[in-house]
Formats: sequence, structure tokens, C-alpha cells
Amino acid sequence: MQQEELVSRDNPGKSRSTAQKPLVSIVCPCYNEEAMLPLYEDVMQKIVFSRLTDYDFELIFVNDGSKDKTLAIIRELAKKDERIKYLSFSRNFGKEAAMYAGLKNAKGDFVCVMDCDLQDPPEMIESMLARLAQDDCDCVATRRVTRKGEPKIRSAFARAFYRIINRISDTEFVDGARDFRMMRRCVVDAVLDLPEYHRFSKGIFMWVGFETVWLEYENIERVAGETKWSFWKLTKYAIEGIVSFSTAPLKMATAAGSAISVLALLYMVIRVVIAMIWGNPVAGYPSLLAITLCLGGFILLALGIIGEYVARTYMQVKQRPIYIQKESNIKK
Ligand code: UDP
Ligand code: MG
Repeated sequence: MQQEELVSRDNPGKSRSTAQKPLVSIVCPCYNEEAMLPLYEDVMQKIVFSRLTDYDFELIFVNDGSKDKTLAIIRELAKKDERIKYLSFSRNFGKEAAMYAGLKNAKGDFVCVMDCDLQDPPEMIESMLARLAQDDCDCVATRRVTRKGEPKIRSAFARAFYRIINRISDTEFVDGARDFRMMRRCVVDAVLDLPEYHRFSKGIFMWVGFETVWLEYENIERVAGETKWSFWKLTKYAIEGIVSFSTAPLKMATAAGSAISVLALLYMVIRVVIAMIWGNPVAGYPSLLAITLCLGGFILLALGIIGEYVARTYMQVKQRPIYIQKESNIKK
């Protein structure tokens, strides 16, 4: 740490002297994870807290409106270990909101985002911290190099998504990138400075920049419980990513609209010439119908695309909070 004193974001008045060990905050969003939490906490104690003694830790569980015993389990864990902090939402706001809330409440010099299903290997935290200690990067991110254990159709759609978004967005999206990453305070502050209501963290992390090092690992299947991402939820998430980080679909409507108008004009001229030379028999009903339907479909598609952007602008303008907190043991 180059500074004399490390000033925490949430407690600008309070400061931690360099004599203390650096604080690492681990942010863990949880939704219906009663089966996973005890296992996860046990592994974290053994692999991270008791081994990495050069650092202080705080583990922030964000209960995203779980309907099972997740909150009760978190409360119990927090009673046993004061390093365990939590905050609980008034309803399910989604993983993005949970990550945002966790980052906002994290006081660490380094902050790590991590799922609690052990698909993000806790052993990697040590190498992430070691990499940051080399002082040549601000963020250590992870990416899966295999999608073993994932349904084939899901992998195919994920690959197509990355291909499309990288073509139409200025922000780079890394295929297989996880949300599992360790960031310096400066990166976290930059991420929190983006007040977007519709958050797509994979894009936000890349958009803020900073020197990022990528660690790779093979996909690991969930230890217990089940994935909260249905195919429909993932599709909506992909659309979210495209609309948040590219205006290309809007331009696509303009480009296609112009092309179709030019073609329609040409067609009209051809029809007039044909009518003048050969007269005007009552043919052409099918082609008329086809063209009308095609144009109608296209206009609706273009309207839909515009609608996606207008809806997001509307939600943003309303300035609703990203999440509502109901309960927490975090002192402000
Ligand atoms: N999660 C959440 N809110 C949600 C859905 C998921 O906080 O609405 C959490 C979940 O508890 C887990 C992480 O986000 O810790 C990743 O979810 P999951 O493992 O279901 O996703 P996958 O690994 O299948 O992409
Ligand atoms: Mg998972």
C-alpha cells in the first residue's frame, strides 16, 4: 500500500493505518442457497481464513430475497464469526443488485466477488492476492476455459452471444469470464460510480478499464442446490448486455429501413414501366401481400428494438433504488 492511511469508502472519517493487515472483503450473493451455505463457509474457513494470515477478511453475504432458510443460516454463521457480515433484501432483486449491494458495503482494500456454490474455487483467492501484491495490476479476473457439465445448447448460445456482442460493442467481452474477481479499492469505487439501474457487471467491469490479469480454470459443477438461471432468464440477461453496451441494434433498424425503402422505390418504378409497356393485368396480389407482411414485421421489430431502449431509459429516469435493504449486521 503506497498510502500512509487507507480510507474506507463507507467511513471516510475513519481510517485504517498501514500497521494493520490489508482487509479483503469477499462479496457473496445468495439466493435460496440453504444447501450450499454451511459447506461454503466451512471451505472458506479452512482454505482462506485460516491459511491466508497476512490479510484480514470480511465475508459479506447478500441475501437476495431467498424463500428458504438462507437468511436464518447466515444469521447463525454471523453469530459464530464476527468476520461474517450480511445484508438482506426485501425481495429478490437479482444477482446484479446483490453484487452491487455487496460492493457498496465492502470496506476492504481488496474486494472479491464470489458465488457461494463453490463453482468459483476458493483456492484461487490466494493466487489472486499474490498477483495483486506484485503491484502491476488492479484486478485479477477469472475465466472458464471449458464449459464441461453445461448443457450443449446453453454453451452454443453463450458462444454466439460473445461473438455478437464483441462485434457490435466497443467494450470487450471475454468469453467464459466469470464474475469471480479480486479488485483493488480504486476499481470498486469506479464500478460503484456507475449509477445504472439495469446492471450488466460483465460489461461494467470491462468498461471501467484498469489493468486486468486473467486467470483460467476448468469449469466446476455446482456442489449442491441448483442453478437459478433458466434458459429464459439467460436470454433476458444476454439482451440486457447487448442493449446496455451497444446502440448497434438501433442503427441496424435505420440501415435496414433505408435499404428496404430504396428497394421499394425501385420496385415501384419497375411496376410503372411494366404497366406502361404491357398494360396492367390484375396480377400481383401475392407479391403485394408478401411485401406488406414483410414490411409490417420489420416495422414491428424496429419498434420493439426502440422499445427496449426506451424502457431502460424510463426505468433509469424514475431513479428507483437498485435494491431495498431489510436487515443487516453491517455497521455504517
Ligand atoms: N443469485 C442471486 N440472485 C439471483 C440468482 C442467483 O444472488 O436471483 C446468486 C446465487 O445464489 C449464486 C450466484 O448468484 O451464489 C450464481 O448463481 P447460480 O449458481 O445459480 O448461477 P450459475 O453458476 O448457474 O450461472
Ligand atoms: Mg453457479
